[in-house]
Amino acid sequence: MSETQQLYGQSQAKNLLTRSIAADRLAHAYLFRGPDGVGKQLFAKRLAAIINCKQSEGFVACGTCSSCKKLAAGSHPDFVLVSPQKGAIKIDQVRALIKSLSFAPYEAKTRVVVLEDIHTMRAEAANSLLKTLEEPPENNILILTADTAGNVLQTIISRCQSIPFYSLTTEETVSILMAQEDELDLDTAHLLARLSEGSPGKGLLFYKKDLIPLWQELTSLLVEPESNSDKNSGKVLLMAERIAALKEDLPYLLGLIRLWLRDCLFVLNGHDQGTESLNRRKEWNSPQYFAKLQAIDRAEKELSRNCNRTLVCEVLLFQLTA
Ligand SMILES: [Zn+2]
Repeated sequence: MSETQQLYGQSQAKNLLTRSIAADRLAHAYLFRGPDGVGKQLFAKRLAAIINCKQSEGFVACGTCSSCKKLAAGSHPDFVLVSPQKGAIKIDQVRALIKSLSFAPYEAKTRVVVLEDIHTMRAEAANSLLKTLEEPPENNILILTADTAGNVLQTIISRCQSIPFYSLTTEETVSILMAQEDELDLDTAHLLARLSEGSPGKGLLFYKKDLIPLWQELTSLLVEPESNSDKNSGKVLLMAERIAALKEDLPYLLGLIRLWLRDCLFVLNGHDQGTESLNRRKEWNSPQYFAKLQAIDRAEKELSRNCNRTLVCEVLLFQLTA
């Protein structure tokens, strides 16, 4: 997305940042906190563009000056993105960053550093960042992003200006998805908006990884009347193998199954919520649905502890079909 394109939603973040820019009172460290995939990194990049653009207006950069062009091409030497490596930002990355900040920016007035998903940092890495956060070297702005659900040390939070990010509305999510994917039809965009719970980033991931057809196939298998019979166990095992092969995307599929179970519960309790067309097994009752939701929680925990992925999926599917 270029620096001139519209950023949908997040009006609170937009207003706070626009006012700070206008008053020339930007903080030296920000914490953008909100759900996964709702635009935290896009906003960080946009802020970096505006700060160093000669002709920015409001929360839009010109898109044509050399700073904007380099940023859009991903080649701006003073825009630094630090992302988790193998699941977490490591202390070595923080040390290297701190060292690089002791040099003046190459060409920009202000260097912008984005540390992504800092809830993944261990305390040791986070602590090594505290001094820099409190007082970054001149002409540097640090933007930290974190998931709402993730754990962030209080000592980090207290050193940053927090900007909250929220899930987007269905309309906003649909607009973003349609703008990003030419081939996407409106119905699929609506489904993705609902299943991603207002997170265009997640919606795009579901789409690109073909998670929706797999989810639909999986839920049909689970609701087959004979799904828990011996005859069907071969099919269930095969499905377990397929979903285990998703590897790092598996948690997203588990999230989709959880959403499906919740929607089924809604329908069971008389709220259709436009979800009456769901695959459902008529005889399942509330306690059974709750047990299945708990089975998902357990599977997620086991996966985060690096248990054998295929085994976790097999156990989960047998619990879901029971
Ligand atoms: Zn510009």
